[in-house]
Amino acid sequence: MSEPSVFTRILQGDIPSEIIAETDRVFAIRDIAPRAPVHLLVIPKTEQYRDVVDLAAGDPSLLAEMTDLAARLADEHADGDFRLIFNRGAGAGQTVFHVHAHVLAGGLDEGSLGD
Ligand code: AMP
Repeated sequence: MSEPSVFTRILQGDIPSEIIAETDRVFAIRDIAPRAPVHLLVIPKTEQYRDVVDLAAGDPSLLAEMTDLAARLADEHADGDFRLIFNRGAGAGQTVFHVHAHVLAGGLDEGSLGD
């Protein structure tokens, strides 16, 4: 059995972070190293899907819940426009293998696209 992901540990309260929104199956936090004026992470409560390709194949309705919450957060924290990024694989910059969406908003530039 592998260790719980950093996001599971946040959800369980083992690592401090404010949960800024949640539904039955999805939650959101602020990214600890923001790349945009608003940089939030939307995360399924289950860590059974390691990336967006796994998630889309395994539970598309959960992926839709993530995009719904991203849109709600962009309305609440910015003007409603947002960039949604899923890194898939270490070569693309993925460091946490518990699928999550980066929600970037509030005045974006090219630097907020990633490295
Ligand atoms: P990725 O590189 O796509 O796997 O994204 C992982 C993201 O998680 C990075 O943007 C990190 O800054 C963020 N992150 C890692 N640890 C924490 C934490 N404890 N609280 C909030 N965000 C975190």
